[in-house]
Amino acid sequence: MSDVADRAEWRIAKDIELAMAHARKTPQLEADGHCHYCDDDVAHRKLFCNIDCRDDYQREQEAKRRAGC
Ligand SMILES: [Zn+2]
Repeated sequence: MSDVADRAEWRIAKDIELAMAHARKTPQLEADGHCHYCDDDVAHRKLFCNIDCRDDYQREQEAKRRAGC
């Protein structure tokens, strides 16, 4: 039975490893009180002032990533 437990532990370790690798690849945005796209003041802990800015930002990042390839 310990075999199953070992495998579960390995699976969890693998999941954490993958999550960490993904987190490293994705730049983490810090909420600094300003919209990351248009630099407007935003509410505490918000990254963007609205969905449009968020979408535009993501599109910009996507374009940059493609250009970098
Ligand atoms: Zn904005």
